[in-house]
Amino acid sequence: MALINPIKMLENAQKEGYAIASFNVYNLESIQGVVEAAWDERSPLIIQSTPGSLKHAGIPYFVACVRAASELYDIPVCLHLDHCESYDTILKCIRAGYTSVMIDSSKLPYKENVDMVKKVVDITSRVEVAVEGELGKIGGTEDDVTVDEREAALTVPEEAKAFVEATGLDTLAIAIGTAHGLYKGEPKLDFERLSAIRSIVDIPLVLHGGSGVSDDAIREAIKRGISKVNIATELKIPMATAIQETFASNPKENDPRKYMGNAKEAIKKAARKKIRLCGSSGRAWEGIR
Ligand SMILES: [Zn+2]
Repeated sequence: MALINPIKMLENAQKEGYAIASFNVYNLESIQGVVEAAWDERSPLIIQSTPGSLKHAGIPYFVACVRAASELYDIPVCLHLDHCESYDTILKCIRAGYTSVMIDSSKLPYKENVDMVKKVVDITSRVEVAVEGELGKIGGTEDDVTVDEREAALTVPEEAKAFVEATGLDTLAIAIGTAHGLYKGEPKLDFERLSAIRSIVDIPLVLHGGSGVSDDAIREAIKRGISKVNIATELKIPMATAIQETFASNPKENDPRKYMGNAKEAIKKAARKKIRLCGSSGRAWEGIR
């Protein structure tokens, strides 16, 4: 079916106590890998791309490929723009067919962050597109956006409540101790903070920097109210490893269908694991149809 916005799927996840994995994709094979995984699990699916990936492949390719994927399988699929700081890029993506966008103005002072999110909500509320905002700073590097881990500020519950009320946004990314990319040590999530935010904020909450966090910690975060878990690095690694292994066993391999085919299978396997961890298997149309 056509791409849908993720509000109903995330609201159902929030109500029923599971989460939806949101996978960063880069090319045809990564899109095929995550959609085949979601289909095998009969799970709703969010596919996302960062502005850096848009530069690499172009908005029309992403929209056409993800749209084709959603029409091939009877599961709900959403196309989300991840970590976008540019209002113009958001407009371009909405016009092209994205059904959800993240305006990341979390680096700005609170008041300016509110104003920027409001500006985006003003557009999206007229066109059935969902908006994710971020409050607090998630450490690490996502494309070319870097936040010093020591300076990363965690989300303050009361501020989150005020932010949601002031902006009218649909989902909120919160900082509770996760970081983008790979961790140097075991990340410590602030579960008490998450519970405190969940108790006073009523929209779906998003966990960024989920790669490298233990399965137990992800389960606990979902139990305490996370409804969307972003996954990027933990798909990149199996993808790269599959390609490296293909060339290690056959350095003369030159058929992209072989090495990219292996990459796709590796992504699919990793994505299925994450979908099961999030608890969304078998829930494709729950709360939607
Ligand atoms: Zn992120």
